[in-house]
Amino acid sequence: MNRRAKIVATLGPASADKRVLRRLLKAGVDVVRLNLSHGTHDEHRRNLQRVRRLSTQAGLHIPVILDLMGPRYRLGHLPAPVTLRRGTLVSLGLEGEASDLVVDDRQLIDALKPRDRILVDNGLVELRVEGKANGRVTAKVKTAGKVDSRKGINLPDSDLPFTISAKDEADIRFAVDIDADYLAASYVGAAEDIDALRRSVLAAGGKIPLIAKLERALAVANLEDLIASADAVMVARGDLGVEVPLHKVPILQKRIISAGRRHGKPVIVATQMLESMMERKRPTRAESSDVANAVFDGADALMLSGESAIGRHPVDAVRTMGRIISEAERYARTIDKNEHSVGRLADVDLFAPFEDSDGGGSRTIAFRIADTIAAAAVHATHTLGLRHVVAFSQGGFTARVISRYRPAAPIWMLTTMESVARRVQLAWGVRPLLLDDDVQHHDEVISRVDSELLRHGLAKPGDAIAVLMGDPIRERPMTNLLRLHRIRALKSG
Ligand code: ATP
Ligand code: MG
Ligand code: MG
Repeated sequence: MNRRAKIVATLGPASADKRVLRRLLKAGVDVVRLNLSHGTHDEHRRNLQRVRRLSTQAGLHIPVILDLMGPRYRLGHLPAPVTLRRGTLVSLGLEGEASDLVVDDRQLIDALKPRDRILVDNGLVELRVEGKANGRVTAKVKTAGKVDSRKGINLPDSDLPFTISAKDEADIRFAVDIDADYLAASYVGAAEDIDALRRSVLAAGGKIPLIAKLERALAVANLEDLIASADAVMVARGDLGVEVPLHKVPILQKRIISAGRRHGKPVIVATQMLESMMERKRPTRAESSDVANAVFDGADALMLSGESAIGRHPVDAVRTMGRIISEAERYARTIDKNEHSVGRLADVDLFAPFEDSDGGGSRTIAFRIADTIAAAAVHATHTLGLRHVVAFSQGGFTARVISRYRPAAPIWMLTTMESVARRVQLAWGVRPLLLDDDVQHHDEVISRVDSELLRHGLAKPGDAIAVLMGDPIRERPMTNLLRLHRIRALKSG
């Protein structure tokens, strides 16, 4: 597997079938996503268990992301679709309050103020608030159109307080119950929202890493803090393109990706990457370019949504995405003078102090030590022609900071924990190797690294490699040790 950027596939009716799922994994899916805005707990549980079973059979470690719905406003029930004409005034209110449009949440009414925009159905219809009286909002139609029951509403001008709904609470308990690998946090606006979700997960008795979905203007304004508090981020271009002007999305994608790189947090680029493959077997040229450019921007992972969930060609979509990524990465190598890093992707300043959330505390020092060692190891792949970079680690942090330097050499992560082996798959270029027993001493790590790489046919005797670990191992410190050496042949007998 030479591809370095990862593929996330959303499962749905088109891909839940055992045979389709097996083919998806074979086609190169690295990470699976289940969207809690759709489907039932029973379906999601079955899907997660199927992914676990089939990936184990295939010798793969595949993490499952559960995507929370988040505080999403919607229209309430309308007896019939309502046609809104440009320039007319409409009233919005709660159920039973005689208005033109029913909305499903009092908070939405409370939050609106004059001149705020109300976008309905992915921005297809736009209203502007004129005034508020007796619990009803009056708004003028700016962009005409027909709206129907339960369509989504975006309020790009109001900083709505983030709340965790009863549904989200129930979904979090469910995620803990089925041991999900990641939770995707929809509509977060600030670091406190991530903290609140983390407390919720903890209260449910779990510890699940959180992916902050960047899809609100407020989230973009709080980008640095959000990335610092989350475990990974997603450029959720669907809602983002409604909440901020569409023409800013390509630049925001670049800004979010490089912020993720600075913080050592994986970045997923999502939505409409191969949208036309919902229907057709081949993507548009624009989509092919979009996938390649996400790779050039330095994304860790690229996501399929409807393409794999409800599309007609889920397996072809994965294969197509894989081919475009591989070709983009080949090109990135050829244009780079330094053949040991992947072209333009290595734009992180090796000597800038690592950024993290501990603001200079003792964890910061430990992080910076690990990051400095990672930078040294990647530098050595260049100066010494190392063939592999191997991290022996308990949590996956070291593998992620190696990854942020985008070495051309493969990154392997040895761990004794299945859950860590799965989760690290989200990071660019990192591949896990699961050890079935614990290692006590650093000499033992070195010999296990050699034997694992040889056993899996990934390296040969004499290959120069870097091994990173924390020593003494029993105390589980952060990475503080770098060993450069040549792989020794296995002793026979
Ligand atoms: P989000 O904003 O979280 O991305 P979405 O509605 O855009 O929500 P996606 O996960 O992007 O949903 O999937 C695209 C479409 O695929 C959905 O709108 C829905 O129609 C369909 N879909 C996704 N997952 C499921 C599922 N589990 N069951 C049925 N339909 C699904
Ligand atoms: Mg969304
Ligand atoms: Mg979507």
